[in-house]
Amino acid sequence: MDNNELWGGVLREIELAVSKANFVTWFNNTSIVDRSAYSVTIATPNPFVKEWLEYKYHKHIMKSLRGLDPDVRTVEYVISSASVMGAKTALAKPPAAPPAETEEQLGFTEFAVDPQTNLNSRYTLNNLIVGSFNELAYAAALAVVKNVGTLYNPLFIYGGVGLGKTHLLHAVGNEIKQQRPTTRIKYVSSELFTSELVSSIQNNETEGFKERYRQNDVLLIDDIQFISGKVKTQEEFFHTFNALHGANKQVVFSSDGPPKSIQHLEDRLRSRFEGGMIVDINEPEYESRLAILKTKLAEKKQQLNQEILEQIAAYVESNVRELEGALNAVVAHQAHSPQRALNQNEVREILAKNSAPKRSLTATQIIKTVAEFYDVNEKVLFEKTRRKDIVKPRQICMFLLREDFNGSYPYIGQKFGGRDHTTALHAYEKILNNLKNSEQLAGEIKQIRNILYKRH
Ligand code: ADP
Ligand code: MG
Repeated sequence: MDNNELWGGVLREIELAVSKANFVTWFNNTSIVDRSAYSVTIATPNPFVKEWLEYKYHKHIMKSLRGLDPDVRTVEYVISSASVMGAKTALAKPPAAPPAETEEQLGFTEFAVDPQTNLNSRYTLNNLIVGSFNELAYAAALAVVKNVGTLYNPLFIYGGVGLGKTHLLHAVGNEIKQQRPTTRIKYVSSELFTSELVSSIQNNETEGFKERYRQNDVLLIDDIQFISGKVKTQEEFFHTFNALHGANKQVVFSSDGPPKSIQHLEDRLRSRFEGGMIVDINEPEYESRLAILKTKLAEKKQQLNQEILEQIAAYVESNVRELEGALNAVVAHQAHSPQRALNQNEVREILAKNSAPKRSLTATQIIKTVAEFYDVNEKVLFEKTRRKDIVKPRQICMFLLREDFNGSYPYIGQKFGGRDHTTALHAYEKILNNLKNSEQLAGEIKQIRNILYKRH
């Protein structure tokens, strides 16, 4: 293994274990500049990074290096010549001391990727929140842990982004490792898996590749959909899979959709994927979203009042990652005004800023879509009638004009037949409130949004 490959391997492991920001800050522009039989010298761009790598990341770097090259005994950090100028300036004016952040903030507690297995100890079954959206996948994962290689093989878990597939794969590995420490487990992203496979094909050592993978008792392959269209890879993978499966090795896949949705996939491979157990993870419904927020908040040892949590749960419908992002944003803002709780408007603004930009809609589009959805005459929505079948779509219009169009209450009231702004406010709150109790209503609004944003 040459220096680049070795360092590339280390970086890939570290990247899995730290936040993106930490990775970029501390590992960009690093390389191995020198290597003797037992010692590796790592070049860093400046004294600050050098110090930080020595101080905080040394253990992990060492572990990772030795996982790839067991001969490594010592590691040295130097400032690369390209940065010496920077270093001199820095000497004249010492770099600021590292910010006094907690280990948690810096992500060091995330630091627990085992170089042997690639498993990240941060993802466990214990800290996986289970709700109706993922209970099937969770149950299947538990069954695999109890019956490694014999019950559901392969287990194929699919679902949209940010719904916990990667988390679940690591959790399965970590749990098996904990219950049976001698089990040989490997987690790979399908990109890493395919790139290793491709280089083994190029080097004519697919046998060796197969052998290495066959040594594992459990193979966890994340995001298998990326194998789409790679003909040669699929062919070789088919044989590798058969070898593993034939030897009762447990294989778990994750994918963004069911096997039949993966484009350009060989039929025989598709039928292998379908040959075990297939489970999906759905988008969490309101109750689960609230549970997720509460649990994550407790993990962060932070507090927010119940109304705020409910508002976040009502607003963020997509996935766990977005929920956590929204929660973090609100927590950060709340920290700036510790004396009083954020009010509904403030929270709404934070959420709007934090969420992915929505397609810009016009008020007319919203009203027209809602009217069509409930099969009512658009014009009647603007009249004063209090007929139940009209009041509901009207309130939903107002709600969406507020949430998705960012209309002011006076504007919305005006729009609907010159009503007072409190009518709009009341409608907004009514719907927000009902959303919490009615899956039916939540489903309808989701459906309307799908139409508005032309999502399938
Ligand atoms: P995916 O692989 O499906 O895109 P991830 O596993 O990367 O999603 O999950 C995104 C983030 O959300 C991770 O930080 C993960 O720990 C967290 N997460 C997802 N699902 C859950 C869950 N059910 N319980 C707790 N955390 C979760
Ligand atoms: Mg993932």
